[in-house]
Amino acid sequence: MLNSQLLKIVEDFGSPVYVYDAEKIGSQYKRLTDAFKDVKKLKINYAVKALSNISILKYFNTLGAGIDTVSIQEVQLGLAAGFLPEQIIFTPNGVSLDEIEEATILGVQINIDNLSILEQFGTKHPNIPVCIRINPHVMAGGNSNISVGHIDSKFGISIHQIPHLLRIIENTKMTINGIHMHTGSDILDIDVFLYASEILFDTAKQFKNLEFIDFGSGFKVPYKTGDIETNIEELGQKLSEKFNNFCKEYGSDLTLAFEPGKFLVSQSGYFLTKVNAVKQTTSTVFAQVDSGFNHLIRPMFYGSHHEIINISNPKGRERFYTVVGYICETDTFGNNRRINEINEGDILCFKNAGAYCFSMASNYNSRYRPAEVLWHNKKAHLIRQRESFEDLLKNQIEIEFKSKKDNVLVG
Ligand SMILES: *Cc1c(COP(=O)(O)O)cnc(C)c1O
Repeated sequence: MLNSQLLKIVEDFGSPVYVYDAEKIGSQYKRLTDAFKDVKKLKINYAVKALSNISILKYFNTLGAGIDTVSIQEVQLGLAAGFLPEQIIFTPNGVSLDEIEEATILGVQINIDNLSILEQFGTKHPNIPVCIRINPHVMAGGNSNISVGHIDSKFGISIHQIPHLLRIIENTKMTINGIHMHTGSDILDIDVFLYASEILFDTAKQFKNLEFIDFGSGFKVPYKTGDIETNIEELGQKLSEKFNNFCKEYGSDLTLAFEPGKFLVSQSGYFLTKVNAVKQTTSTVFAQVDSGFNHLIRPMFYGSHHEIINISNPKGRERFYTVVGYICETDTFGNNRRINEINEGDILCFKNAGAYCFSMASNYNSRYRPAEVLWHNKKAHLIRQRESFEDLLKNQIEIEFKSKKDNVLVG
């Protein structure tokens, strides 16, 4: 998007504000489907947790995507956005049997990643087909928080437990219609991914009634210049070939499924903040913006790098700034960044603000969560209002105390 378009959005909707470029979401979706054009049946299920605004979900629906959900609430959001139950896969971790049953009542495909729950579910509902999440124990992922395929991971059913898994299926007479893996975000090396897929194919041969194989996600997108990006085109070509060979051997055309979040929405997002103050200390120049980890926590939570640019003064002389928030805790967005000269009142733009940014926002410090705007067909559409004071108090219950002195409850 152009700086002028972003500045106009701040003018119209205030700061801070999240902006998403629908065209970028569409082009990423197309890139992925193009990369796998040689596969007969392809299903892209957008991972709702990355960015869950209902208008974003509706937009994905128009693109032809399904959705991947991790909570019953995300399932409900998807249904509210107009997805059919059969376009939704529910891939929770560590939820109760009740929640899984609730999802099956809504008619969505469930994915179970725990032998104990699988056995209980299969015993009660042998006629509902289930997908199982396998842990291939392949180390992948950008950091230990988002690497979920390793041996000590809480995710998935270990490939070393396949005999136990098969016994449960035999005893309960349940049907396994899909197998799934999700090795974690940030796949840097296609060979690692293909290696994990071989393990999944090997496992798949043990199940006779498969309809799909779901390869999860973990596609890496560049967050700064020089970052490695998953080569989707190469992955598409190599995995499609393996998949088509597998289908031949298996004897039916299965659906190849993916469930990317970050790849589809990360680069579509811009987070716009206003500089409240520029503060010079003996060693550092701080740019203090009207936001904090209440709105964008990834840098503090994962050490993620978000590029920060000054869209008010893009031609200004470059200087070094440490960009921080207004939260009363250390909340550094970026340390010693080279940014065009910053003046108080300038608008700083955080890139890659589509995935895991708004969806992780909170009300910490009793601040409002920001507005969200979708840029679509060259127009800005408000898709979420900035919160208000009423929102902060909503659901809080006030107790009336008798007097300030004795703090005794009335009644
Ligand atoms: C979070 C998650 C995804 C999406 O991961 P990205 O790195 O955003 O693509 C996909 N599948 C499951 C099961 C997830 O939990």
